[in-house]
Amino acid sequence: MKTDIKSMLPEELENALMEMGEQKYRTKQIFTWLNRGVCSFDEMSDLSKKLRTALSERFYITSPKIIRKQVSELDGTVKYLWELSDGNSIETVVMSYKHGNTVCISTQVGCRQGCAFCASTIGGLVRDLEPSEMLDEVLFSQIDSGLPISNIVLMGIGEPLDNFDNVIKFLKLINHPGGMNIGMRHISLSTCGLTEKIDKLAALNLQLTLSISLHAPDDETRSKIMPANRGRGVDELISACKRYFEHTGRRISFEYAMIDGVNDTPAHAKLLSEKAKAVGAHVNLIPLNHVEERKYKPSKPENLKTFINILENNGINTTVRRSLGGDVDASCGQLRRSAVKQNS
Ligand code: SAH
Repeated sequence: MKTDIKSMLPEELENALMEMGEQKYRTKQIFTWLNRGVCSFDEMSDLSKKLRTALSERFYITSPKIIRKQVSELDGTVKYLWELSDGNSIETVVMSYKHGNTVCISTQVGCRQGCAFCASTIGGLVRDLEPSEMLDEVLFSQIDSGLPISNIVLMGIGEPLDNFDNVIKFLKLINHPGGMNIGMRHISLSTCGLTEKIDKLAALNLQLTLSISLHAPDDETRSKIMPANRGRGVDELISACKRYFEHTGRRISFEYAMIDGVNDTPAHAKLLSEKAKAVGAHVNLIPLNHVEERKYKPSKPENLKTFINILENNGINTTVRRSLGGDVDASCGQLRRSAVKQNS
């Protein structure tokens, strides 16, 4: 069994090299090559042939294949469908903003959280992504698109906190000064609210931005559309958010997809204001993206307007997410589904 070398932190790589009787300084050379996106040990031209052979006997290097690449004619958003080494597929989206290029990565193949409005969860969870596979999404999106990546959002397919250890390792790898060196403050992690994992994340005190996919401020509505709420509840989630903010000093953001007739009444807006105030959270309203298999529709513009007014009158910092990549199915909740459907 060979080891996935790109999932190894430099200190782990160093230990492995020492065991092979190699010099310490080789670690940095190899780590640099891996983070430049080489696909074989033979490309590591400053290593001896003997070392390259020895490495290839012990380790393998992941490199996803592009199955499909779509570029939005509306705004230049690039969407990749990758084939992983075991034949599974995932999607990554690169968006250009004035402040830089952001990559939205998947953290699992499929998802088991079952949110009623989301397309990623329709086929359930297939498997977790390895740290190397998440790193590859960033690395190869940058190499192929030519767009230097400065920000990362973990908002693609999957629930990042359900793949906790691999996600944390990926964050350490992507943040490493010898690697892509992307600062934690340039990274956002989005979760459907696995409260016990939010505490585990807080304890690590990474300076990333935590986004909570709230989508409803009361248990009745939230449990209906988000099974992750059942057995946890909104109040427990809000308490976990408070603890996170107190421990890390990082302001939390609430994602709220506006769904017609489900979570978009003035009463919802009022209760949401209270919850946001309790945590000092910013609210990011998302116009619901239509998913073919789902019955939900986006809120009517007049209801959205009233909703925003109530939040603002309550002093809540509110934004409405601009939708990018609408012509390439790159919007939240739509990833991978169309490819899976085509294949089946
Ligand atoms: N599992 C994580 C991250 C992936 S989803 C989470 O739940 O946060 C990224 C965001 O897109 C989440 O806020 C999710 O609720 C939202 N989303 C999913 N389907 C959507 C849809 N059809 N329209 C708008 N937003 C959607």
